[in-house]
Amino acid sequence: MRLKNITGSREVIAGSEYVIHEPEKQKGKWKKQVFENDNPQYIEIGMGKGRFITQLAEKNPDINFVGIEKYSSVLLRAVQKMEANELKNLVFIRMDAEYISDVFDRDEVDRIYLNFSDPWPKDRHAKRRLTSGNFLDRYREIIKKDGVVEFKTDNRVLFDYSVAEAPAAGWEILKMTYDLHNDEEMIKGNIMTEYEERFSNMGNPICKYIIRQDQEENR
Ligand code: SAM
Repeated sequence: MRLKNITGSREVIAGSEYVIHEPEKQKGKWKKQVFENDNPQYIEIGMGKGRFITQLAEKNPDINFVGIEKYSSVLLRAVQKMEANELKNLVFIRMDAEYISDVFDRDEVDRIYLNFSDPWPKDRHAKRRLTSGNFLDRYREIIKKDGVVEFKTDNRVLFDYSVAEAPAAGWEILKMTYDLHNDEEMIKGNIMTEYEERFSNMGNPICKYIIRQDQEENR
C-alpha cells in the first residue's frame, strides 16, 4: 500500500469512537465490553481502507467485526466510512498484528480474513508475512479450534509459499483456487477488496485458500 502521511490522521484515529484505543484491556471481554452481545467474532488483519470489512459488517449484522490496520493514514479512510454510515457491529484497531494474542484471548475469534497481505519478498523477511508459520501460530492462540482463516491474493509467489506453510504449521487446507473469479463455488458471496478490484481489473487471477487447524492436534 502506498503510504501518504495524511496530516492529522493520527489525531483523528486517536479521537475516534470507532477505534478501540487500548485493545489489550478488552482481551477476553470483547463480547461483553465492546459489542455487548454473544455473537460470533470475525477479524480482518491488514484491512487497508476497509471496504471489505465494512461491506461484510453491513451484510451480517449478527456477527461482530474487528478490523486491524497498522497505519493511521490508511485506517483513516475506514473511519471516515463509519462516520458516514455507522455500524454497531464493527470496530477498528490500529496496531501491528504481531501483538494479536495480547488483544484476543483463546477461542475469542471465530474467523480471520487476510486480504492481499504484503508479500515481503525477501527471504529474510518471511516471518513478517501474515500467512507465515510465525503468524499462523499466533492465530492458533486466539481462534476457535474449528475457526477458519480465509486468505486472498493475486501474488502467486506469496500464495504458493502460503499453501506450503499452512500444513507445515498444523493447518489443513479446506478449499483453494488459483482463479477465484472463475470458480463457481468459491466466488459465492465474494466481497471485493480495494486491491482485488485493482488487480483483477489488470487481468491478474485471484488466488484464495480457506484453512483450519488440524482437528486431531492437541492444543
Ligand atoms: N486488505 C486491503 C485490500 O485488500 O485492499 C489492503 C491490502 S494492503 C496490500 C496490506 C495492508 O495490510 C496495508 O494497509 C498494511 O498497512 C497492512 N498491514 C501489513 N502488515 C500488517 C500488520 N503486521 N499488522 C497490521 N496491518 C498490517
